Amino acid sequence: MDRPVIRILSIGLFALAAFMVFASPLTQGDAPPDLRIDIRHSGEANLRVVYEWRRAQRRMIFQTVAEGYRKRQWTIVPDGFEIFSEGGADYIRRAGGGRFRRVEIIARPDNIRLDKEYQPLVKYGERGALLYTGHFWPMIKSGGRVNAVFDFTPAPAGQVVAFGDRAMRIENWRSPEDHPAFVYMGPLAPVETQDVMALVDPGAPQWIAEEFNTLVPRAFSALSQLFGFTPETKPNLFLSANVEGDAGRLSYAGDALPSQFQIMLRGGAWSRPNAKAREVFIHSTIHEATHLWQAAARPASDETPEWIHEGAADAITAEARVALGDWNGAAFERNAQRARSECASELETGSLNGAAARQDFRALYVCGHVIADAVALAEGARVVDFWRALIEKAERAGGYTETMVYDLIEERTGDAEFAQAVRYFADTPLAQPGEEIEKLMTAARTAAGQRRPAASL
Ligand SMILES: [Zn+2]
Repeated sequence: MDRPVIRILSIGLFALAAFMVFASPLTQGDAPPDLRIDIRHSGEANLRVVYEWRRAQRRMIFQTVAEGYRKRQWTIVPDGFEIFSEGGADYIRRAGGGRFRRVEIIARPDNIRLDKEYQPLVKYGERGALLYTGHFWPMIKSGGRVNAVFDFTPAPAGQVVAFGDRAMRIENWRSPEDHPAFVYMGPLAPVETQDVMALVDPGAPQWIAEEFNTLVPRAFSALSQLFGFTPETKPNLFLSANVEGDAGRLSYAGDALPSQFQIMLRGGAWSRPNAKAREVFIHSTIHEATHLWQAAARPASDETPEWIHEGAADAITAEARVALGDWNGAAFERNAQRARSECASELETGSLNGAAARQDFRALYVCGHVIADAVALAEGARVVDFWRALIEKAERAGGYTETMVYDLIEERTGDAEFAQAVRYFADTPLAQPGEEIEKLMTAARTAAGQRRPAASL
């Protein structure tokens, strides 16, 4: 129970989401749609989804969802169709073969909480539904998404909320991020501020809702200042909580998508205000918010290691807390020190670049944080300054790679040996991780000392 924070879910998802942007043609907004997906919400969390193709198809292909979700929770209304899974994809086709232009399905929410992917459809507050469009949006054979538009019709007295849009009905919708997104349908009134459109599940304890409403504008203004821009699309934030049960449980799961994040709190420890829960909430929420700015630089592929953005998000969260006046220098240093000692123990079992494969997700955060801090020290700048430069570089290149990160480190520190030391640290299984972290910090100080004149903080 001493490690109550569960952030595992957000880890793989953000990188995967970012990769999918590049897998889908970015220009499809100009072409007439090949498919219309009409989604009607029935008042509970059930959806009626009608697929209307411009040209007749032999089958529809979907990215598979774990636990056989579609087979269990989708019903195809017309007779003579079947759903089957093969080679990591789900298919809908006519049982006897042959082409079709229209299919109608009923989709129900799932009670199984998926560990490593977005929930396709969840009940969100009274008579509300939160859906992830990626699980309703067919793929093309080569892996990108079909050129499709969505129509959303909530149940009577409900609204649909998609990024900055809220309406009784939305037609011909495409995500402003050219990317799968969360869309809410139901009676909840979103809280719209200058910065965000937020949907807070009324089941969340009052103190959390208040904390959220206070934190978001403060954190957004601090992050806008640190990054030097505000996100182009008004982000959606979704906050839900299930505080029944185990009084010792304090779980925070965050899912980040471009311009959106979802926070799901679980456990009895959230039910009443307390210092530990508040600290987890503030820190993790700023971490998720940081991803909204980082998304301006997207990984070029799913080969790009996640420690780059997860570690930096932790490090920038610490910088934001200093900027907000939450933390003094000593608190900042304690946090950095904790990352170093946690990283040392995580790397006992293998290299940082091998961590995701051995499911050691914690290493990605803490060791990525250590690297981000070392680079900042070597540069005599803040982690967020490195990210501002990375965003610029990634925009020109259409995404960033691990190599691009090392090149930028060399460019900004003027020290090829230091850049090499960072690469070694990430790549190599280390016999004495604690000592290697010390060496890395020493190399950073050396790099900083060599540069004349020293950059100012
Ligand atoms: Zn994260």
